[in-house]
Amino acid sequence: MKIKEVRVVVTCPTRNYVLVKIVTDEGLYGVGDATLNGRELAVAAALKEHIAPLLLGRDPGCIEDIWQYLFRGSYWRGGPVQMTALAGVDMALWDIKGKAAGMPLYSLLGGKTRAGALCYTHCGGRDFKEVEDSVRAKLAEGFKVLRAQVAIPGTKGTYGVGSGKMKKNKNAGMKFLEQDALPQEEVWEPGPYLRTIPQLFEHLRGALGEELELFHDVHERLTPIQAARLAKELEPYHLFFLEDPLRPEHKESFRVVRRASTTPLAMGELFHSKWDCLPLLTEQLIDFIRCDLSHIGGITEAKKIAAIAEAFHIQTAWHGPGDISPHAHAANVHVDVSIPNFGVQEMVAFPEEVHEVMPGAPVYKDGYLFVSDRPGLGTDLNEKAAKKYPYKRGYLPTTRRADGSVHDW
Ligand SMILES: [Mg+2]
Repeated sequence: MKIKEVRVVVTCPTRNYVLVKIVTDEGLYGVGDATLNGRELAVAAALKEHIAPLLLGRDPGCIEDIWQYLFRGSYWRGGPVQMTALAGVDMALWDIKGKAAGMPLYSLLGGKTRAGALCYTHCGGRDFKEVEDSVRAKLAEGFKVLRAQVAIPGTKGTYGVGSGKMKKNKNAGMKFLEQDALPQEEVWEPGPYLRTIPQLFEHLRGALGEELELFHDVHERLTPIQAARLAKELEPYHLFFLEDPLRPEHKESFRVVRRASTTPLAMGELFHSKWDCLPLLTEQLIDFIRCDLSHIGGITEAKKIAAIAEAFHIQTAWHGPGDISPHAHAANVHVDVSIPNFGVQEMVAFPEEVHEVMPGAPVYKDGYLFVSDRPGLGTDLNEKAAKKYPYKRGYLPTTRRADGSVHDW
């Protein structure tokens, strides 16, 4: 079998997605996700102009060789653009391998270690009561693990709560940012944030008890000593984990947070390789590794990261937001249900337009996600439907401190 064609599809069914479709001379094809939110066309250009010509005529079954060739063969290796492009190719090749074997991806990866993937969704609100109501609503839908975020008094824009021009999607009950021409700016201060978050969890535990699993996403906004204080002050509320407390550059600084607290820590959505993860794994500075399969070179790299993590008793919690496609979500769950050290899976409910363009997303039921037994990833791409939703330039929001200086969103 040889690769005959590499197609790159950019589509915006409510938000932008970049898909790689690899077609073989035997008629089999695979589709992978290469979406890098806010820089989509940089990845599309890397795929079309530089990577696609290198794939034509190759055996699509040699996934590891193609991975190494694209990663090391570029000489200028790594980074978000190249690793996202590589992820799209890698997922498409695994999809082809599954279809050629007549097996779902989880089976190729060693077979099921569990029936479904325990998953979490997001709860946010303008005040503690709104967050509590949101958690109660999600508990009624069967969720067992929930992320809780609350608006911080005196700030403009809080991660995970919703801000800017919002559009209510009637199909999935979700909200999406409109595709503004330029990034919106939010204002955030650590003082009010650090005072508010422990109070939020005091409220939630008081109202909802200890049975449910709750956690919080810092979104890389704190300094090491601020994160240490927050982790320590959250200890009485027994979080499932504290997500992304520090910037991705600050790997050694996790020692400061770790020494201060027994609150479990999760990190990794901004990492691009197993080498980014290494110090946190080998020093056991975190409890959950949460890379984004679409930004680390795909399934091939995720399997290796999971295996390294397993040796250090660290579980996985792969990134699963709405800005990666159903193909990436399916890849997440195929890995989740085939490894021994799976922890939890982030999920979103996609709107109808996304299902129309990319059918086959994992199915949610009573707190768990399930993938189909169809060969490969179990997802597909409707190219005709994709054309109905042309690309729209969009950016993630940006954040500044009250004095106007740049901060991390
Ligand atoms: Mg996060």
